[in-house]
Amino acid sequence: MTNDDGILAPGLWALVAALKEIAEVVVVAPDREQSAVGTAITLRQPLRVQRVCPLPGVETYSVEGTPGDSVILALSKLLGSPVDVVVSGVNRGPNLGDDALISGTVAAALQGYLRGLPAIAISSASLEDVQLGPAARLAALLIRRIQSGELPGDVFLNVNLPDRPLAGIKGIKLSRLAHKTHIDTVREGHDGRREYYWLVRQKLSTTANRGTDIWAIEQGYISLSPLHSFLFQMPPLQLSRDICAHLLRELKA
Ligand code: MN
Repeated sequence: MTNDDGILAPGLWALVAALKEIAEVVVVAPDREQSAVGTAITLRQPLRVQRVCPLPGVETYSVEGTPGDSVILALSKLLGSPVDVVVSGVNRGPNLGDDALISGTVAAALQGYLRGLPAIAISSASLEDVQLGPAARLAALLIRRIQSGELPGDVFLNVNLPDRPLAGIKGIKLSRLAHKTHIDTVREGHDGRREYYWLVRQKLSTTANRGTDIWAIEQGYISLSPLHSFLFQMPPLQLSRDICAHLLRELKA
C-alpha cells in the first residue's frame, strides 16, 4: 500500500485498517505530501528509506521520494514475498478526468500495473476524514473481487467516492476519464521581497459528459474507471497518413 498524501495521512491508515483484516499489508509510502507529482520518479539522487512502526504488526517503510519511487522500491527491493495487489490511497480529494495524469495516487498504482499486478487508486472527493471508512471498505471489497477472479488480474482501477455520506450514494458506475474539464492558470503576487507565481486550477464551465468519471461523481455515484498505461494514445487514423510522408519530404528538402 502507498499514497501520495504522505505516510502520516489518515486516508492511508484507514485503508490499512480495512485491508489488514483480509490481507498481509505492507506500507511503502512517501515521507511527505507528494500530491500532483504524477508519474515522477527519482533518477538523479539516491533514495533513502526508513523502516518505521506506526502500527504494530504492519511492516512500514517511509521513503524520501515520490509515490512512483515507493512502489518501485517496494516491488523491486523491500518486500520479501510476492505481492498480490498494489493499492494507493485513500487520497484526500478527488482524482478525476485529466487529473489522473498528474495524480501521484494514480501514478503509484500505475507502477504496480506496469509490473503486471492488479492496481487500485482510490480517492475520496470529500476533504472530511469521516468518508475514509467507506472508501477503505470499498477497496477491500474490490480486492476480494480480484481474488475471486470477478475482476481481471491485470486490472488498473481509478476509484473515486463522491462527497456525500454513504447513505446518500446513488450507486456505482463504471466510467471513463472526462477530458478538458479544467485549465491551469497563473496568479501573481509579491511576498515583500520578490514576486512569485501560483499555479491555480480553474474549472471550465463545460458540463461533464454522461458516462465520464466527473459526471458520475457529480451525480452522486461512486466512479470506477478502468485505466491502461497508454494515457495519451489516440486512434492513429485521426491523423492523415499523408502527414508522415509530407513531413519527411520537408525534412529532407
Ligand atoms: Mn494527494
